[in-house]
Amino acid sequence: MANDRNIILCCDCEGTERELARIFKVLSDCKVDANFFFVGETVKAFPKLVRDIAAQFQAESHTMTHPNLRTLSYARQKSEITGGRKCVEDCIQRPTHGFRAPMHHMNRDTVRILNEENFLFDASRLYFRYDMGKVVEIDPTWFREWMPLYEQLGLKPRTAFGWFRLLSRCRSLCVLPVHPQYSGKNAALADGLRWFINDAKASGARFWRIDDWIAAKGLGN
Ligand SMILES: [Zn+2]
Repeated sequence: MANDRNIILCCDCEGTERELARIFKVLSDCKVDANFFFVGETVKAFPKLVRDIAAQFQAESHTMTHPNLRTLSYARQKSEITGGRKCVEDCIQRPTHGFRAPMHHMNRDTVRILNEENFLFDASRLYFRYDMGKVVEIDPTWFREWMPLYEQLGLKPRTAFGWFRLLSRCRSLCVLPVHPQYSGKNAALADGLRWFINDAKASGARFWRIDDWIAAKGLGN
């Protein structure tokens, strides 16, 4: 169906409070559904902003300290994943069940832990394919915005989102990243994100919370 175009925005929350607040404002203003994956350290640093975001958007976890999980033992991975989740849940006062691995780096231990801890979904799997067991995989379409590169090349902020626009026009589902430290770095870049979202909405794309997507597609158990 030509018009069946869907976008799942996944905001990986590293970066500063100001950068995160900028992204929050753009997504709120645009009135689209989106998903935030919080690092435990971020939650501890600015809990009020995290609660405000979680009141409007899907909120999940992104480890405690944002390490490369592939370099960690099973036990350290488990503590990063469960600690980060608990930190988010304690802050927003509700259960979470989604995960995203820092830099999309995961291995079989990560998958095992997500199954043991009854995560409903993962949104990390980019470089390798794993049998995810009972965890629903929301495969990312792309890994990150190219802001640092585009800035170095002196291109306009909107150009940075041209690639997202192209991807979202030729795929029925795009799972796209938003990073406060890139897209929220300054007002001009945040405006580029706003342009992309409004353009996608105007062209008929629908933005989703991952929970709603899983329910609509009957992906959960
Ligand atoms: Zn991250």
